[in-house]
Amino acid sequence: MSASVRFRNIYTQFPGGKHKVLTLSYDDGKIPDRRLVSILNEHGIRGTFNLNSGLENNSFDVAYNERIPMAEFTDLYKGHEVACHTATHPTIARTPREQMILQVIEDRRALERIMGYTVRGLAYPNGSVDDNVVDALKACGIRYGRTVNSTHGFGMPGDFLRWDPTCHHADPALFDLADQFIDNHKTQYLYMFYLWGHSYEFERDNNWNIIEKFSKKIENKSDIWYATNIEIVDYLDAASRVQVSVDADFAYNPNSQSVWIEVDKKTIELKGGETTEL
Ligand SMILES: [Zn+2]
Repeated sequence: MSASVRFRNIYTQFPGGKHKVLTLSYDDGKIPDRRLVSILNEHGIRGTFNLNSGLENNSFDVAYNERIPMAEFTDLYKGHEVACHTATHPTIARTPREQMILQVIEDRRALERIMGYTVRGLAYPNGSVDDNVVDALKACGIRYGRTVNSTHGFGMPGDFLRWDPTCHHADPALFDLADQFIDNHKTQYLYMFYLWGHSYEFERDNNWNIIEKFSKKIENKSDIWYATNIEIVDYLDAASRVQVSVDADFAYNPNSQSVWIEVDKKTIELKGGETTEL
């Protein structure tokens, strides 16, 4: 005699059983990154810095356009993610394929040599992306690409190689969106707030108060996961590999890292390499 079928509500959660994530993405690696990183560190906010490895010795007109010396990358960006922004920042969708691939793979190679970890993310320089660029990125082992198209929403992206941010920091809707995100306690979906920009814009536009106010508002929330871009991608990839029995009475996590799931409204941590009873 067989037991009757059991339907259970099982959902992927973020680490610690959370359902909201905040991540930032800042481009070009100019000198004001130092001040931006120190503000983020003070508030426990984390992000991804998209860097051009071929522009270190570029000439600059004003001080805020000078690039951070590559020898400083490891210390400065500790606790954040370093990702590609191509070697010399061309508009890649207009670039011959061979040059496009060289720009991406050379940036990746140079950044990996400095950082000592695999670099698998990218922000499209000048927001330039099309199907050919996405194909080239896949061939270069790049797992996600960030666009410059604001969604004003909190949904998870359908395609990480066309990852649209929530908004730019100078967006007039920024603080309304932040309030909506903080006040959102619905748990039917996973929710993401994704902020992007360039640190030199704070210096140029004399508006560092925006990121200071935003950081104070959104820091230290027990239901928000503060993550870099690649941590989100890697975590969801790991979650997608979890194997749940048809009867939903046990789950096997084949990853080395833990994955959290909600089973009939209860949070369960699935430890890496283990089978867990649900
Ligand atoms: Zn850029």
